[in-house]
Amino acid sequence: MPEALRGIFDFSLSRLAASRLFRWTVLGTLWCVVVSSSYEYLWRSGLGDLQFTHGLAGAVALSVILAGPILLFLVLKLRELGIANQRLGVVASTDSLTACLNRGSFSEKVDLQLGEHSGKSKRIKGALLIIDADHFKAINDTYGHDHGDEALRIIAAEIRGQVRKGDLVGRLGGEEFGVFLPGASQQNAVAVAERIRRAVNEMSFRPRGTHHPLSVSVGGVSFEDQLEFVELYRIADRRLYQAKNGGRNRIELTHVQAYDSNDLRQPLH
Ligand code: GH3
Ligand code: MG
Ligand code: MG
Repeated sequence: MPEALRGIFDFSLSRLAASRLFRWTVLGTLWCVVVSSSYEYLWRSGLGDLQFTHGLAGAVALSVILAGPILLFLVLKLRELGIANQRLGVVASTDSLTACLNRGSFSEKVDLQLGEHSGKSKRIKGALLIIDADHFKAINDTYGHDHGDEALRIIAAEIRGQVRKGDLVGRLGGEEFGVFLPGASQQNAVAVAERIRRAVNEMSFRPRGTHHPLSVSVGGVSFEDQLEFVELYRIADRRLYQAKNGGRNRIELTHVQAYDSNDLRQPLH
């Protein structure tokens, strides 16, 4: 195919896309043939057989020659637009440094999953973990911001490596990440949190050739109640605070069966 046409038509189509494209082009062309033939029939059928046949043949030929390529072009461009929109959606919901979901998209997806159960059952189950890198400022101060970024990418990759397909991982801001585990029990949540803590701590991070240990503190909540992201976040954040105060590189999780927002006003125990 000429190079100039490659820019106009993207021919890397899957079988499904190709058959859809073919179907719409053929159906659209047929529709044009039907409309132009009907027009000929209405206005020229009284003019004599030869003239009518010529007119009809011309109408059919013009419809196929003109409508076919134009429809093919339009359908291909619509498909490209659809793909571009899809890519834009992924870019808009992804954190560019770590390739995790960004905060807005993470909270939206969590709320969507929590909301799916509203009205069906009160006994929705799952867990939210908040993971914060320990003494991260020191990494930036000692080795520079680029190495800090590298450490963030390592931590994000380790977190993603410890969760299942269907779990959500987001960068909630700075050096803080969120993990949502739909359907997880309290034991599952503790096991995942501990796996993440250990995996990060065992990573080899060597800025400027020196080994620098990485660690994270994890605060979490497992729940069996109808809650929203903001409520889960508040509960998990309190546990994170406790993990930091307890010396860092540790996990602190709580379980919520029946949520009472007054709980948040109580001192931590
Ligand atoms: P703590 O153990 O109490 O969490 O201490 P910390 O030093 O990790 O926490 P603090 O809030 O004092 O510092 C967070 C640091 O994370 C400061 C900020 O410059 C750094 N940071 C936030 N976002 C980025 C980023 O995108 N890249 C880099 N390199 N650093 C970041
Ligand atoms: Mg930190
Ligand atoms: Mg922080």
